[in-house]
Amino acid sequence: MSTTGSPPTVADVVAALDRRYPPAWAEEWDRVGLVLGEPANPVRRVACAVDVVPETVEEALAAGADMIVAHHPLLLRGVSSVAATTYKGRIVHRLIKADVALYVAHTNADVADPGVSDALAARFGLTGLRPLHPPRPGSPADGPGRGIGRIGELPAPLTLAELTRHAAAVLPVTAWGVRAAGDPGRMVRTLAVSGGSGDSFLAEATAAGVDAFLTADLRHHPAGEHLAAGGPALLDAAHWATERPWLDDLAARLRDELGVETVVSDLDTDPWTVHAAAPRPDDKEPRP
Ligand SMILES: [Zn+2]
Repeated sequence: MSTTGSPPTVADVVAALDRRYPPAWAEEWDRVGLVLGEPANPVRRVACAVDVVPETVEEALAAGADMIVAHHPLLLRGVSSVAATTYKGRIVHRLIKADVALYVAHTNADVADPGVSDALAARFGLTGLRPLHPPRPGSPADGPGRGIGRIGELPAPLTLAELTRHAAAVLPVTAWGVRAAGDPGRMVRTLAVSGGSGDSFLAEATAAGVDAFLTADLRHHPAGEHLAAGGPALLDAAHWATERPWLDDLAARLRDELGVETVVSDLDTDPWTVHAAAPRPDDKEPRP
């Protein structure tokens, strides 16, 4: 970045990220950009994480990071206090005392090209990518290739059951794993993927004519009604696992553009920590 050999500043990193993920591209309800940090401070190492929670903050501090770039906003809703007696206030204090800046790229990174779901699509080797949910024409994020979610072709067709096992193998490991809805023998050639909560894109997945849609946080009634209406099969992965792949892309771009060191958090911040498959009918007795 600098010709004098000095490291970029927080302001330099913010400028580079704002160019790649313009804050104007974020949804209206979203809160993105620099959350805290001194703009003039030097940045030698950036930690990338999906969630800003005490565990990922401690991980970043232990790694000697000067700045954290996260996907989920720490402060999404209005706050009237960041007292250290509150959960989020504690995090704010920890970061400010350690002089570590925090930057968030959320729905502006979802909509970007390449964005969050490109990294997810890459895990499946999808080709011929196009957006699942393009921005409203004329909106700030409107542009070629941009949009939330991606649609593409699998390298080879798989049954839904095979694709579900494949998804569990290629996505970051979580207790949740991957569950699917629909006929297990259904052939899947065209797959839509959307990192994070994808409930609101079920109708778009149907309209796109894909064979299956992989996302997170799917619910009983919307999923059941979607399938009853003849919609594509559904794969419900762990929210964190669908967004974690993007961190590698983010880190690579920060290294290339700014010459900073990066650390990527593999700490599973999904809230679900235990999963038990029901015993099969011929396997009722618990094994010793
Ligand atoms: Zn998310």
